Amino acid sequence: MTDQDIPYNRRSSILIRNAYLNGRETDIFIHDGIIQAIGEGMSSVMHKNADIEIDAGGDIALPGLVNTHTHAAMSLLRGYADDMVLFNWLSEKIWPLEAHLTADDVYWGTRLACLEMIKTGTVAFNDMYFFMDRAADAVEEAGMRACLSHGFIDLFTEEKREAEIKATMALHRNIKARNNTRLSFATGPHALYTVSSDGLSWCADYAKEHECGIHIHLSETQTEVDDCIKNNGVSPAAHLEKYGILTDRTVAAHCCYLDDAECRLLGRFNTAASHNPSSNMKLAGGRAIPYKALRNAGAPVTLGTDGCASNNNLDLFEEMKIAALLQKFATRDATILPAAEAIDIASRTGAEALRTGGGTVAPGYAADIILLDRRAICQTPFHNPVSNLVYACNGDVVKTVICDGAILMHDRFIPGADAILAGAAQAAAALVGRREEELEN
Ligand SMILES: [Zn+2]
Repeated sequence: MTDQDIPYNRRSSILIRNAYLNGRETDIFIHDGIIQAIGEGMSSVMHKNADIEIDAGGDIALPGLVNTHTHAAMSLLRGYADDMVLFNWLSEKIWPLEAHLTADDVYWGTRLACLEMIKTGTVAFNDMYFFMDRAADAVEEAGMRACLSHGFIDLFTEEKREAEIKATMALHRNIKARNNTRLSFATGPHALYTVSSDGLSWCADYAKEHECGIHIHLSETQTEVDDCIKNNGVSPAAHLEKYGILTDRTVAAHCCYLDDAECRLLGRFNTAASHNPSSNMKLAGGRAIPYKALRNAGAPVTLGTDGCASNNNLDLFEEMKIAALLQKFATRDATILPAAEAIDIASRTGAEALRTGGGTVAPGYAADIILLDRRAICQTPFHNPVSNLVYACNGDVVKTVICDGAILMHDRFIPGADAILAGAAQAAAALVGRREEELEN
């Protein structure tokens, strides 16, 4: 089949033949966005019903990966400022540049991020930023799944809080009106040091009433913990619990400085902790997420890249390796976070946290499947494909991406990729130009 014959971004009946799944080659039949059947030698009915047949030729089938914490449009800031102290990095470089961001910039930044995520095997992501209606445009055009939240920052003033409430409700209306099952909405209280208790309560109540998610940053640094205890008399997780933020629909990003009692709190509420190891290491957070304590407490641990300014890519294959290595290094325990678990937190657990319906390649699950090159250097020799995927490969190993039963990439081809790269590069250059003009005046 040639690339021209593939109905990209359109839900189709797909028969994948000879995919390597759980140790053997098998066929996978997809219809109506759902994995209908898996087995060798699919029935002739399925052959007849399939719009497309893909011969995987032994390539490895894996659930599409899920990035549970990012600010996709920050891909425009990739490489703009690095190797700086966190506060200076934010106050001197990132925030002043973000002040010039337009809605169109967010569109192009999110388009670029989606392109990179598809290319590296991610099918769904949890995104918090501004101008999110334009991010939604980009996600729809890319054909991915996303949970979108407006970054709610009231800085403890009532006036700003009212504006953020309006923006949050407007985004929710916008997403509902699109009637796209791949898009979902979450309230996005940015963090406890940028959002008042009234703001946190509002976000929690709104999410409860509308049964939507909550996306927040939690315990990224020691300073955040110290200030919270000084100002509120309790730990960050206890503070969030008090205002209703800890729920089984909540994804808390970072969670590096949680103590044992806080891990148990997350476990009790079944709140997902999104691990972002590259960002934590790059910004010198100083402590790795207490992975074992969270797991022991029953809290789901998922994987995220954070924004491109603090990573600087969105490749979850790299992130799996870095997560596994960081845990081993930080705990002096080489058995912690083994390869199979790294794949699990990047796929199944993330899919459950975002409620995508995917995350597992089995009948009845959403047809979010990636095919990985079995003949790549990183898969040779083939002693252990799971080990190879985490420790040897990166996102380049991804050949085909299927999301919601639609092919987004086949044989590494994504239609329109060149135009996206050009549009994003142009938007980024103009953005930096506006900032430089401001500095000159
Ligand atoms: Zn973040």
